[in-house]
Amino acid sequence: MTDIVFNHATVRERADMLTFLRLCSERGLETVSIWGDEIAKVGETDALSVLNDLGMTVSGYNRVGPLAADALDRAEAELERAARFKADHVFLFTGGLRENEKDLSCARRRIEDLVGSVLERARNIGVKLAIEPLHPMLTGDRTVISSLSHANSLCEALGPGIGVVVDVYHCWWDERLAAEIEGAGSAGRLFGFHVNDWLIPTRHLLTDRGMMGDGIIDLRGIHSMMRRAGFEGAVEVEIFSTDWWSREPAEVLDIALDRCRCLFNRE
Ligand code: ZN
Repeated sequence: MTDIVFNHATVRERADMLTFLRLCSERGLETVSIWGDEIAKVGETDALSVLNDLGMTVSGYNRVGPLAADALDRAEAELERAARFKADHVFLFTGGLRENEKDLSCARRRIEDLVGSVLERARNIGVKLAIEPLHPMLTGDRTVISSLSHANSLCEALGPGIGVVVDVYHCWWDERLAAEIEGAGSAGRLFGFHVNDWLIPTRHLLTDRGMMGDGIIDLRGIHSMMRRAGFEGAVEVEIFSTDWWSREPAEVLDIALDRCRCLFNRE
């Protein structure tokens, strides 16, 4: 049976973090992915005590970034909070081009250096960093790391303590997907697997993700690539969608669980 984890973003519009934790626990789930800004809304003490009372653990912590030379102290504070929640890994949100910046190679070098600086701090604190390459259409404003190949080579250069998260939404188009997943797996750096779907048409790049099975992504195929590459972690449901945000959170979780069981438990 594949373990399933929900990312709080999937229901965050209508369920605060405490509600989210309870809804997951009621469904027998033991692990969640969480957001620093949602912790701040309910208070860290309450968030931690509900998490502990329910006996739940944290997979991904969102997030550190956007990265900038003058934002490293803030990054460190996020890493420390992630450590207090015993998160398995912390997402790096690198940020895209700066205002008026046109030189993409230069922007990538700048970001790679900053990732290196955050990694030093993360190693000292004892948390792992995760790079999640985002869809190339988000290169300008979200991240200049747009492919698994780039993420893998950056991890290779930086050494231990950093890995990748494969989100089907961002990577499904990549002709090198199987090879890059395999490479990341053999290097022991596959930290997570995010699922949702790519709708046709997609009306908004950030807020129109589909429920698994409603779009065109070969979810079973990519899940098989992950398993073949040695990934034994959970399938993480992460759907940013104004449509799904408007639905009852419990209903969204139940539909997603059904879809996941149908898609991922047949192998
Ligand atoms: Zn993701």
